[in-house]
Amino acid sequence: MKKSEVAMLFAVIVFYDQRIQFDEGKLEAWHLALDDDMPFEYGRKIIVDYYSENTSAIMPANLNEKWRSHRRYVRELDLQEKNRNRLESEQNKAVPIPPDIKAKLLATLGISAKDDSALAVECDFCEAPIGKRCKTPNGIEFTVGVAHPSRYEKAKDATVEENQRKDSSQL
Ligand SMILES: [Zn+2]
Repeated sequence: MKKSEVAMLFAVIVFYDQRIQFDEGKLEAWHLALDDDMPFEYGRKIIVDYYSENTSAIMPANLNEKWRSHRRYVRELDLQEKNRNRLESEQNKAVPIPPDIKAKLLATLGISAKDDSALAVECDFCEAPIGKRCKTPNGIEFTVGVAHPSRYEKAKDATVEENQRKDSSQL
């Protein structure tokens, strides 16, 4: 904020608070303390809000605190927006595979597109948790097939072990 704008903030403050006397030294001190990137309009809004709820004299820290949390909030929204856009563009890049090629591909891998038995165990390859489809290296869930081949093997082994446990407990 420019020094002339800080002076205008003071003009607003003295309307609310007779205790704060305006002078050149105080103007300089506030100018140094306030965040450089705080817009004048935002500072004025904080002052109005502040005196609608408080009876104590306002300090530069009151303005900076509100401004910084506002800035964090805006940055967070911005980041979420960017992540959403990135994910959407990744998904748009994925070209759908023609059904006959998809069937051949799955047959080659020895996988049925609907066989979700592998979801009973975690995937050691992509670390997909139990119940969730496997992920591509970009972190997008499989749309063709359900899981990595090794996960089917693991699920099969787990079933065999489970049956063996059952058998031995019946003896
Ligand atoms: Zn996997």
